[in-house]
Amino acid sequence: MNSRRRFLQKITASAFAIPFVPAYAKNIARQTNTLAQEGPPLRVAIMGLGSYGTRVAEAMRTCTRAKLVGVISGTPAKIKDWQGKYSIPEKNCYNYENFDKIKDNPDIDAVYIITPNALHRPMAIRVAKAGKHVISEKPMALNAAEGQEMVDACKKAKVKLLIGYRMHLEPKTLEIIHMRKAGDFGKVMFFQGLCGFRIGDPTQWRLNPKLAGGGAMMDIGIYAVNGARYMIGEEPTYVTAQETKTDPEKFKEGVDETILFQFGFPSGAVASCLSTYSMNNLDRFFLNGEKGYAEMQPSTGYGPIKARTNRGEIDYPHVTHQTVQMDEMADIILRGKQPEVPIDGEEGVKDMKIIDAIYLAAKTGKRVDLKL
Ligand code: NDP
Repeated sequence: MNSRRRFLQKITASAFAIPFVPAYAKNIARQTNTLAQEGPPLRVAIMGLGSYGTRVAEAMRTCTRAKLVGVISGTPAKIKDWQGKYSIPEKNCYNYENFDKIKDNPDIDAVYIITPNALHRPMAIRVAKAGKHVISEKPMALNAAEGQEMVDACKKAKVKLLIGYRMHLEPKTLEIIHMRKAGDFGKVMFFQGLCGFRIGDPTQWRLNPKLAGGGAMMDIGIYAVNGARYMIGEEPTYVTAQETKTDPEKFKEGVDETILFQFGFPSGAVASCLSTYSMNNLDRFFLNGEKGYAEMQPSTGYGPIKARTNRGEIDYPHVTHQTVQMDEMADIILRGKQPEVPIDGEEGVKDMKIIDAIYLAAKTGKRVDLKL
């Protein structure tokens, strides 16, 4: 950590009202401006025009290095609506039956799959076969074996595979990672990740095990899983987990309501996390080291993220996560940029291996060892 940033943090800590702008955040702003002038944008087609697909499309309006140019949808009325809203030409519109023809479309570089979880793997394999780069929403698949199939298919087709891990690119998150790497917290001992919300409509796909592949863990608990890894900076070597269910009708067999899980890391650090579909206001990360701490609340929502350390608040102006994500993905795919925290298929498979182990540990009541 440079002395200027330390100085700024000291001021913040003593004069609570004056927040500091992390050096990293300034770098992001600078990079955005420079790279905006370099080369063509990543031309993206979104598959699945639902709630999150709409959020991504709106965020892409202000992207400088990525552009929404196409859609793949099972609902003709949505296609018409999006064509009007985002000026999408007819030749870039597809449905789930005919989208393999995208291989003959030179005006689309990548497909962003934003469908229910069970469709990520089969759709990703078809997109890869059509020779287009794949961006898949989280969780990348229903389990690690499926995730690995996606990685293999993309390798074979020589296309890139990225996962929609927007927090891996979020400036305040990255600032805490930089501070941890710089030794500002001393030896890291503990991470806590609490992730949950109260889920509504019992008929939605998120509560259908065939489409969701699980419950809260696949949907929201995954943030605590990869948060533990990037905050501590190590891979877990073992997992223990306990599951509770208060409503077995809503949360059927194969749909987890609440899981508590714990990780052990090679350095001796430990993590304790909660994933649930039954509690609101649960969006908190806490990292503790021998010399300091970082806390984020909210930690993974759409923002603004609130982050502070023992030195004071990290106060960087809110950025729309999905705008930053798509611009960064353009640089990763088109210009080979290496992100601070990986967001590729291999990273997704690691998370899926851990989730597989959490489910096994919760089912058997036994500790499950991991080799990532
Ligand atoms: P929605 O239900 O709102 O949208 C999913 C869309 O997928 C539908 O609108 C539909 O679009 C398409 N679809 C295709 N087949 C089916 C099917 N059998 N059942 C239902 N929809 C189908 O879901 P979300 O947008 O909330 O979630 C989509 C994905 O995005 C999930 O994997 C989720 O985990 C992820 N997500 C990620 C977030 C993040 O912050 N990274 C936040 C929220 C979700 P169409 O009619 O166009 O075919």
